[in-house]
Amino acid sequence: KEKLEFVKNHIDSYPDFPKPGILFRDLFSVLRNPRAFHALQDVMIEHVSSQLTPKPEVIVALDSRGFLLGPLLALHFHIPFIPIRKRGKLPGDVTRVSFALEYGTDIFEIQSLSLGSGQNVLIVDDLLATGGSLNAACQLVNQLQATVLECLVIMELVYLKGRDNVKAPVHSLIQF
Ligand code: IMP
Repeated sequence: KEKLEFVKNHIDSYPDFPKPGILFRDLFSVLRNPRAFHALQDVMIEHVSSQLTPKPEVIVALDSRGFLLGPLLALHFHIPFIPIRKRGKLPGDVTRVSFALEYGTDIFEIQSLSLGSGQNVLIVDDLLATGGSLNAACQLVNQLQATVLECLVIMELVYLKGRDNVKAPVHSLIQF
C-alpha cells in the first residue's frame, strides 16, 4: 500500500499531450527515481507472487513501455520474456492481428515460435486506456494456442471502461 502510494506520487501528468484534451500519464517520471522504480518492481512482483494462480510460464509485453516492465518479472521468476511489436519489426515467422484505432487500423505481431500450446501467459503494459491494444495482444497469444492468465497494467484510466473490451482478466496497480 505505501509502496503503491509512493509510485503513484511519482507519476507526472501532462495536459494536452500528445493531443489537445488528453491528460498524459508518464511512466518515465517513475523510472527517473530509483526508489520509485524499485517500489514499482516490488509491487509488481508481490502481485504476481501472492495474487496470481496458477503462476505464469511466460511474460509477454507490448512495445514499447511494456518492454521496460516485463523483463523485471521475467528475470525475477526465471521465465521467458516475449515481445509484441508493431508490424515489420520482428524477424522470422510471425503471427499477426489487426485491430481498430481511433482512426484506421494497426497491426501487432509476435514471433510464432515464441509461445507453446497451452502455456500460461501474463501480458504486461504500462497503461490501459480503451483496451484495444491489450485485447489485440490477447488475441495474438490465443492464436498461438496459449492462455492469457491476466493482463497486468501499472495504470488504468477507469472512466474509459477499457477492461470491458479485453477478453481476459485485467489487473491494474493504480487507477485514475
Ligand atoms: P488503449 O489501446 O486505448 O488501451 O491504449 C493503451 C496504449 O496507449 C498503451 O500501450 C499505452 O502505452 C498508450 N497510452 C494511452 N494513453 C496513455 C497515457 O496517458 N500515458 C501513457 N501511455 C498511454
